[in-house]
Amino acid sequence: MAMNMPKISKCDVTECSYNKQNECHAMAITIGGLHAICDTFLKTNIKGGVADMIGGVGACKIDMCKFNKSLECSASVINVGHHSDHADCKTFAAR
Ligand code: SF4
Repeated sequence: MAMNMPKISKCDVTECSYNKQNECHAMAITIGGLHAICDTFLKTNIKGGVADMIGGVGACKIDMCKFNKSLECSASVINVGHHSDHADCKTFAAR
């Protein structure tokens, strides 16, 4: 089955180095850790990313999500938002 890299339609974590006006400008993020965190979230005073690109989901380690296929994300788009002091994939849905 062909898979396209899901885009991050919105990210509310504006303090992240890759965030500009609620858009993610990392080329690709990785989701995963103990739960569906954005593992690419970075808080520094350097602004990073590629200005004319919207980030995609390069990999997702959360096998228990219904969108996860072979440790990749099969959702068409995802949203990212705050969860305490870090960033979570808000599109996560348990199988
Ligand atoms: S999706 Fe992750 S890397 Fe991209 S802006 Fe949001 S927190 Fe940062």
